[in-house]
Amino acid sequence: MVQDAYNLYMELWEKIDERGIKKRACRSSSEIIAYVRSLLDQFRLLDLTGLPGDGKNDTEAIACRKRGNGLVNPRIARYVSAIRFYNKSIALAEANSAALAEAYGNRSAVCFALKEYQAALDNIRLARENPYPENLMHLVDKREQDCRQLLSEMGKQGELTAELAAKVELSHEPNPKIPQIANCLELKHEDQYGRCIVTNRDLKVGDVVIIEKPHSTLLDEELRYLHCDYCNQEAILSLIPCKQCSIAMFCSNACYQSALDSYHRLECPVLKDVRLLFPNVMVLAFRTLAKTITSFNNNLDELKLFTECVEQTSPSPFDYDWTTIGAKDMYATIHSMSTLQASNLSTRGWLHWPRSIGTGVGVGARVNPRIVPLSECG
Ligand SMILES: [Zn+2]
Ligand SMILES: [Zn+2]
Repeated sequence: MVQDAYNLYMELWEKIDERGIKKRACRSSSEIIAYVRSLLDQFRLLDLTGLPGDGKNDTEAIACRKRGNGLVNPRIARYVSAIRFYNKSIALAEANSAALAEAYGNRSAVCFALKEYQAALDNIRLARENPYPENLMHLVDKREQDCRQLLSEMGKQGELTAELAAKVELSHEPNPKIPQIANCLELKHEDQYGRCIVTNRDLKVGDVVIIEKPHSTLLDEELRYLHCDYCNQEAILSLIPCKQCSIAMFCSNACYQSALDSYHRLECPVLKDVRLLFPNVMVLAFRTLAKTITSFNNNLDELKLFTECVEQTSPSPFDYDWTTIGAKDMYATIHSMSTLQASNLSTRGWLHWPRSIGTGVGVGARVNPRIVPLSECG
């Protein structure tokens, strides 16, 4: 089992008792973590700076491909599981290697078995762009020929019909300044609930009152080699890898570039370590931080001043015009959520994650000093 940081710290916290050390009184998990960290630093008990980091590894890539091969046997035919291994193999393989070419080639075979002929052709093209072994070339030649013939017989050139996603709409008129919410919603401050959103008219069960894209998303580990890291769409037959790490895959070059531009350039060198060592909430906090640093053009001084101002004014999403809002003000609405930590709502776990953002910086720097030069923020 992967040991995450939270469990690790809680285990160490219990062990302090066993050692008979007089504990400092801590009222929350974050205080416990900070205290345990200080003990670890004081006695130099835990050095995380020597972690190997991430990178391409052809040996692991080949092992993954072989595991995938075991699942495409017609008697087993667990194609999605096989694709997951092939995709991981693609993510692990070194650029311009035979391992990468063969992983694409094997993915094309599964596409063919699934009758996804255009996807099979796309994977064959990717296989050919890399040094595909000559002794196996006749297999992809034959597959390519079969795909083209079957596509011409189908007369559709394999164009997949895009499934129309069920269109969800607000059940009430949108708020003119915040079009993602219905105009019946208002922000209130209640003694019992603190800052909360209420409706000023009766709602029916099933009414849709908010349709909003998340500021940051993070794939569940189960979906890592099946969905795009940026847009989160399922793209099992067409994922392409990040050129540097073995973690992130994308449905297209456009998504890859967008991820690099908005967060992945900062998290790429440490993402694997952070995911292994910390719970998802910290990884999400880290990504939120990376997106925010990017929106401030890597100017940490400006970001610091901005957050100090936000902490004083504590703006809410209702203070902004969302038809023109920029990335910085959008972050302000997230950052100001942390002010609720001081209230009696601190037991509500979902409010805790923005607070982790600050910790995320520390995590990044502690886990792997590579984050500092790469962030260009020194
Ligand atoms: Zn995508
Ligand atoms: Zn990467």
